[in-house]
Amino acid sequence: TQTPETHEFQAEVRQLLDLMIHSLYSNREIFLRELVSNAADAADRLRFEALQDPSLFEDDPEPVVRLSMDEQARTITISDNGIGMNRTDVIDNLGTIARSGTRRFLDALTGDQKQDAQLIGQFGVGFYSAFIVADEVSVHTRRAGEPAANGVLWRSDGKGAFTLEESPREQRGTAVTLHLAESQDEFLDRSRLRQIVRRYSDHIALPIELADGEGAWETVNQASALWMRPKSEITDEEYRQFYQQLSFDTEPPLEWLHNKVEGNQSYTSLLFIPAQRPFDLFEPESGHGLRLYVRRVFIMEDREHRLLPRYLRFVRGVVDSDDLPLNVSRELLQHNRLIDRIRGASVKRVLDALERMARDDAERYARFWDAFGTVLKEGVVEDPDNAEKVAGLLRFHSTHNEGGATVSLEDYVRRMREGQKSIYYLTGESLAAVRNSPHLEVFRKRDVEVLLLAEPVDEWLVAHLNEFDGTPLQAVAKGQLELDELGDPDTPDAGEKPEASDSVKALINRIGEALGDRVSEVRASARLTESPACIVVGEHEFGMNMQRMLKAAGH
Ligand code: ADP
Ligand code: MG
Repeated sequence: TQTPETHEFQAEVRQLLDLMIHSLYSNREIFLRELVSNAADAADRLRFEALQDPSLFEDDPEPVVRLSMDEQARTITISDNGIGMNRTDVIDNLGTIARSGTRRFLDALTGDQKQDAQLIGQFGVGFYSAFIVADEVSVHTRRAGEPAANGVLWRSDGKGAFTLEESPREQRGTAVTLHLAESQDEFLDRSRLRQIVRRYSDHIALPIELADGEGAWETVNQASALWMRPKSEITDEEYRQFYQQLSFDTEPPLEWLHNKVEGNQSYTSLLFIPAQRPFDLFEPESGHGLRLYVRRVFIMEDREHRLLPRYLRFVRGVVDSDDLPLNVSRELLQHNRLIDRIRGASVKRVLDALERMARDDAERYARFWDAFGTVLKEGVVEDPDNAEKVAGLLRFHSTHNEGGATVSLEDYVRRMREGQKSIYYLTGESLAAVRNSPHLEVFRKRDVEVLLLAEPVDEWLVAHLNEFDGTPLQAVAKGQLELDELGDPDTPDAGEKPEASDSVKALINRIGEALGDRVSEVRASARLTESPACIVVGEHEFGMNMQRMLKAAGH
């Protein structure tokens, strides 16, 4: 046999391990949640690959996670019969290569131990949490379908390096053994382990078994697919726990929607609307989608947004159908009528739920809007069929409110002044800049409300949202104003081009000469009541903010 090779941990992994070992004392028990969740993922991946190649099951088709302990040796072992790893997999996954989540996890740390421990699962650094309680960890593993001789043994004390050696393994899958650090003996207790599994992993849909000390195994979790149980038998607490185990979110969800559709194209969906943003909501390849199951077999996470459009990517949950083929592929997902139906119905369910929330519980809706409003705005562009519905869900800052973004287009239209024909808005780089814009002076004076838009996505939004419920949207900084009809006795000369006196004409000429080509025209205007001058954009040009964005993008 060969001698073990030593490999250095990648720099950020080293930092992470240092943190696990020295700073995360509270919530130490979450290491078990992470290792069990990896074992369950490995079972899912095996089932998925076995759809193409059933021989991967060898003679051991029932997925299971087993926990055992050795009090003498002071070790706990978490073993699974999942997909397993070969040598390359081990090197890629356990410490040599930087994973994108590692840096982000380090950046996201708050110093609040409880919160930081919760972050571990979200950032894909769960494996290393073993070092919160262990002073040595070993991973013995063999990839499904490969010969026993390809077994690999990984070992580390978490202090900068790990060793790797060949180690034949008859059994497919992975066994992670933790040698508990001093003072971690509480985890050598069967009832403590049982309690932790029930707390964090009850809804993992495969059996988690605990050795009873006499050679028998006891299943300690529910091990059933929660979404298949009748709604009436599931408690709110169970839904919340399930959500937690699915999302690793620290906050309970704002809402869940559980539906069973029967017929010759049957499916079940369980969708959650979270209360806070995940860290990667705005990454182009943002991590999550609904989890698709076919007859309880996990098929894939819908990262390509077939089951729900991108602008609803904050929704987490599960779709399970009896009427899709088990060997469903990405291509098939693109052209499948049942998938189209599920998508259509799911969009409607989510938008309806948001409408309900907005109507019945403004406070909760405000939380939703704070977290995901920016993403929902994309829907106006992405989903023309539902644009009107999405538009109704939008909330804005406005000259009529000081606090958060709470004004709906419906509110706006309801309080439009008599004779007012448009919904006025102003876009800009920041809320402060928009609020203080000289463009608003005449509107304030005439008590005409203006929506204040300061997010980058807002330019795209208004470029696509031409009207709401028959009322056109109109940028205040663009083209001619039509406030005349709103007649205001204080400014009888209101209008874009009042007669300019000779002295004003002279001034206009001088300014025009000074600015030259940089402007197309200098003119007198009744827009302003306090500031001496402002810049306006032609009716058919991009807004100022859009121009800034295009410039920044190199146009
Ligand atoms: P994540 O689970 O979010 O990917 P982890 O740090 O928990 O991050 O695990 C890192 C990787 O190590 C996993 O993505 C997987 O490829 C591999 N891995 C960990 N545990 C197992 C296991 N029990 N079986 C197979 N692969 C595993
Ligand atoms: Mg994990």
